[in-house]
Amino acid sequence: MHKAIPAPISGGLILSYKCSAQCRHCIYACSQKWDANWISEDNLYTILNKLSGRIISDPKGPNSVGLNTGLHFTGGEPFLNFDLLCKASELATKLKIPSTFVETNCFWAIDDKTTKEKLKTLKAKGLKGIMISVNPFYLEYVPFERTDRVIRISLDIFGQNVMVYQLEYYRRFKRLGLNDKISLERYLQFESQKHLLNNVEFFPSGRAVYRLKNILQQYYPLRPAKNFFNEKCLTPFLRNWHNHFDNYGNYIPGFCAGISLGDARRLDTLLDEGLDTERYPVLKFLIDEDIKGLYNFAKERGFIDPKEGFFSKCHLCLEIRKYLCFNYDYKELQPKQFYLNLLEDEVN
Ligand code: SF4
Ligand code: SF4
Repeated sequence: MHKAIPAPISGGLILSYKCSAQCRHCIYACSQKWDANWISEDNLYTILNKLSGRIISDPKGPNSVGLNTGLHFTGGEPFLNFDLLCKASELATKLKIPSTFVETNCFWAIDDKTTKEKLKTLKAKGLKGIMISVNPFYLEYVPFERTDRVIRISLDIFGQNVMVYQLEYYRRFKRLGLNDKISLERYLQFESQKHLLNNVEFFPSGRAVYRLKNILQQYYPLRPAKNFFNEKCLTPFLRNWHNHFDNYGNYIPGFCAGISLGDARRLDTLLDEGLDTERYPVLKFLIDEDIKGLYNFAKERGFIDPKEGFFSKCHLCLEIRKYLCFNYDYKELQPKQFYLNLLEDEVN
């Protein structure tokens, strides 16, 4: 049985999962420890070529950017391999992919001169904009003055095409007069745990379910699996917008790290033929019977619910997939290092 997969109209290209940071909230469980495995130039070209003509521009036009439109270069931290980021920007421009931007944690912005040079170079390669990550979890790894610097200089270089995610935290950090990096524990001396996630988008998934457990309990009480059977996914599992493509060639649905819909290098075939659900049971259950189907499938294969329960549907989904990944060989659970890194997060 084959299921149609929506053709992507926007998304992010993960150049590598390697990162300069190891944020406690990271959905993709990125860190310094990942093998870099930067996307090869061949794969970069192949995937961009497949996306060319499919990615649609931001409603304001191909030279404008938006969080859920166009194509962004991401990771991990793309500035760890600036040459590759330049190459990607150049190729995307040649292939007429609209509304391109880079997502960064700003670790590299050590002074004005370097920052200006790098951003100007990217603009000259055809990159249209930048998304700057701001929240207390980045603040543990990146001095706020660097983030502030990138925002200030980006506004000069990219003008309207500067996105600060999340602006609410930027305002809070400015109000507090922060400059350096600080631990979450210290930050919480300024702001109560209860206030921490107020008024900001947050995904209780990935590393957060282990490394932010104590804080999450205040927002998302742990509940048994059955409580999530009728809950919808945060965003539809299959959708055409804001999907991801990684350095291993995986076509990742939305923010569902660790799931591969297939080989993005063979995107045309994948879209023409659809997904062979008999070969990929995890995908089959998620598509046909949602989390309840996947849960029952895993139970039949020995999955045991942790006594304490789960923070969210994504947390439940993650635990099931982690179990299936380590005990069986399901090709749709990729990359394996994602699950291995999470295991480390769980133990530490
Ligand atoms: S959230 Fe971003 S900066 Fe933090 S570890 Fe993940 S990829 Fe790196
Ligand atoms: S529950 Fe699973 S499939 Fe649904 S959004 Fe979360 S990670 Fe994705």
